[in-house]
Amino acid sequence: MKLVDVHCHLESVHFIHDLDRVIADARDAGIAKLITATITPNQWDRSRKIAGSYPEVEYSMGIHPWYIRESSLDDIPALSHARELGAVAIGEIGIDKKTESGDFDRQLAFFEKQLAVARDIDLPVIIHCRGAFNELVRSLQKIGAPKAGGIIHSFSGSPELAEEIIRFGLSFSMGGTLTYRNSRKRAAVLKKIYPRHFLLETDSPDIPPVQKHGEINYPHYILYNLQAAAEITGDTMEKIAENTTMNAARIFNLNI
Ligand SMILES: [Zn+2]
Repeated sequence: MKLVDVHCHLESVHFIHDLDRVIADARDAGIAKLITATITPNQWDRSRKIAGSYPEVEYSMGIHPWYIRESSLDDIPALSHARELGAVAIGEIGIDKKTESGDFDRQLAFFEKQLAVARDIDLPVIIHCRGAFNELVRSLQKIGAPKAGGIIHSFSGSPELAEEIIRFGLSFSMGGTLTYRNSRKRAAVLKKIYPRHFLLETDSPDIPPVQKHGEINYPHYILYNLQAAAEITGDTMEKIAENTTMNAARIFNLNI
């Protein structure tokens, strides 16, 4: 069984001193590739080095909406070199109305500019969106999505919204929230997006599965998410691994 964790943060202080073990545990869990997503420009170099040190790791370059205060719009043109610098995606970018992260117009400006770069250089996007799905759809209408596509990570929207976003050529990754039980909405979303538009993630060290509630999340906990996805869809873990890995390889152009 081969898995891809399409969204994690290996630059995190929780991992940095123990990265060999974190990656070894991921490998033992069947993870063939991990995409580590940067959140500020000062992580870009560090992530590139991590990706260069482990054959399993790929990285993406972006400015997360929570960290725009410490960034400048002038940082964004450098993203147009992402492909030459070996990044497989532009991310983590996005908009968030649920978390206190500065003025929303500024978030939107950062998001749309980064989305436009991704479109120009045709790298897939990794999008964070909370409480701002109408605005997200508007930005996608205005700027467009890259031909390469991309994902809305930790997707929390409705089945109808999923359908609308799929029309832009985008897909969805889900992680720990899959393990939170009894959501009819989540089952309905899975029905819309699985198998073709569904990918697995951990967002580690954040969003642990319910079995590890209150602890640091690790990439190898993806197995809990896989198991939950199997329970929700009624498909086998092997088949879900196969489908999600195929989707990840297609979208992020991974060699697996
Ligand atoms: Zn994240």
